[in-house]
Amino acid sequence: MSETFFEMHDLGHEQVVFCRQPDVGLRAIIAIHNTTLGPALGGCRLYPYASEADALNDVLRLSRGMTYKAALAGLDLGGGKAIIIGDPSIKTEGLFRAFGRFVESLGGRYITAEDMNTTVEDMSYIQRETRFVTGSNESMGGSGNPAPLTAWGVYHGLRACLDEVYGNPDVNGRTVAIQGVGNVGYHLSRYLHEGGAKLVFTDIREENIQRAMEDFGGSVVSGDEIYGVKADVFAPCAIGATVNSVTIPKINAPIIAGAANNVLADEERDGEALQERGIVYAPDYAINAGGLMSVWSELNGWPRNQAFDDAASIFNTIKKVLAKSKETGLPPTLAANRLVDERIASVARMHQFRLHFGRAAVARPGPTMRD
Ligand code: NAD
Repeated sequence: MSETFFEMHDLGHEQVVFCRQPDVGLRAIIAIHNTTLGPALGGCRLYPYASEADALNDVLRLSRGMTYKAALAGLDLGGGKAIIIGDPSIKTEGLFRAFGRFVESLGGRYITAEDMNTTVEDMSYIQRETRFVTGSNESMGGSGNPAPLTAWGVYHGLRACLDEVYGNPDVNGRTVAIQGVGNVGYHLSRYLHEGGAKLVFTDIREENIQRAMEDFGGSVVSGDEIYGVKADVFAPCAIGATVNSVTIPKINAPIIAGAANNVLADEERDGEALQERGIVYAPDYAINAGGLMSVWSELNGWPRNQAFDDAASIFNTIKKVLAKSKETGLPPTLAANRLVDERIASVARMHQFRLHFGRAAVARPGPTMRD
């Protein structure tokens, strides 16, 4: 087995497509992880990967993550992802339209969307070549920026954690330490402020802190001080891996609930360390699925308020994950993985039964004149 097939086998991928169009500088990989629940959906990331191996590794890992995210959110979507190897400062219409053609060639098995270094404008170019794209400009029928919906989902997931710890989901009077007040962090702060929470911010961009302070008030700490802030919730909304063996001992909040992807540097090790410290952790892919729900809503042609209702259901998802964690003794991320595996296996069995039932029905001799 080649190395790529070996990795596909290891992570359970169905299909990996290498795409190349030299005249527009396109080198892309589309990975389809699992389509048991529906077409594989996942963003298209543009990044100057150091090597092809790094690019492949990233797209395989990210597409698998999308299967888990969509499944736990209860959507009829599978997991996929695409990467374009390139310099984010050199974007052209031709690059994205060429990519769009490859997406179209998959006939709907993969649906693309924006991701790191790609924007709604880029999606609008892709949309000229394929129907299988979401998150394009609102003026082109897309759902636009998903951040407000992601934040709405995080807000409700955070409330579920408060309910777990304090027996009351109300944010009024609670203190939330927010790491990163960019797109999602800003909207989360807005919902929390409207709910009466006290906010403590940190960010590496002064202008983002200023905007949040002007709009919501609160206090500011610098850099790593955020971990030690005495709060009810620590909400990581910046980058991945900020919860790790160095920061866990410093965290001074009984709950971690935020938008950032891959928050735990090591899913198993750090998940267990949090459990040992009695800190309730809302798994990233469970709590930040609001943006994906917005895309799902767009695909179904539902009104935007439906997407907000769906994102609010993340409250129930987090409650389910925490209940599974208690029942199994597993840290929440592994408990969430267990729920996903159960859902996918159940739908796969349903498909198999349908196939089997279909064959049996055909094989069985039909009624004759003598019956
Ligand atoms: P963003 O770039 O708009 O905001 C991130 C903010 O974090 C910025 O203000 C940045 O200055 C700040 N930041 C970066 N490094 C920091 C550090 N070390 N300490 C403090 N602040 C730091 O990104 P976003 O769209 O708001 O996404 C935030 C996180 O949520 C990311 O991890 C992203 O993958 C995840 N996420 C976003 C969405 C979405 O809809 N945008 C959906 C799911 C998950």
